[in-house]
Amino acid sequence: MFSDNTDSILEFTGTQVNYYFVCKRKLWLFSHNMELESDSDLVLLGKLLHEHSYRRQPLKEVEIDRIKIDFVGKSKEIHEVKRSRRIENAHVYQLLYYLYFLKKTASINAKGVLNYPLLKKKVDIELTKEKESELESILTDVSSIINQEKPPEAEWKSYCRNCAYKELCWG
Ligand code: SF4
Repeated sequence: MFSDNTDSILEFTGTQVNYYFVCKRKLWLFSHNMELESDSDLVLLGKLLHEHSYRRQPLKEVEIDRIKIDFVGKSKEIHEVKRSRRIENAHVYQLLYYLYFLKKTASINAKGVLNYPLLKKKVDIELTKEKESELESILTDVSSIINQEKPPEAEWKSYCRNCAYKELCWG
């Protein structure tokens, strides 16, 4: 049985945790059902890359409630595939959230692996006690941003150039 607070911070998707690091305005817009992502060329490119890079592997997406895991490897390894050329906190905390979600909802203590096919690199991710409490305060913050009446003001960053909400913010 969880406390109300734990329950509410397990309501998010991995994408929301990712957007918290990318842009807090994007997090708000996405969470208020302004989901433009399916039209984005970048998302399409990511999906294609994802399929081609892992064609020879038994890639099976696993969906548990609101989280979507790219594939599960041996010894309870939760894998996330990123097309980025940079290892970013957004990726790390998205995967930490999956590990946290599995621990809290299903008592599964899994390990995480971030896969960067463009970098030909893998990064191991572990949900330590410290990471867990850090994540809990991030999730509380995610909740307070989403519950704001209006989105945070737009702040220009290089990410805006390829963001699906560019026209809404800067058009
Ligand atoms: S265009 Fe920029 S400011 Fe607007 S939601 Fe996207 S990343 Fe955020």
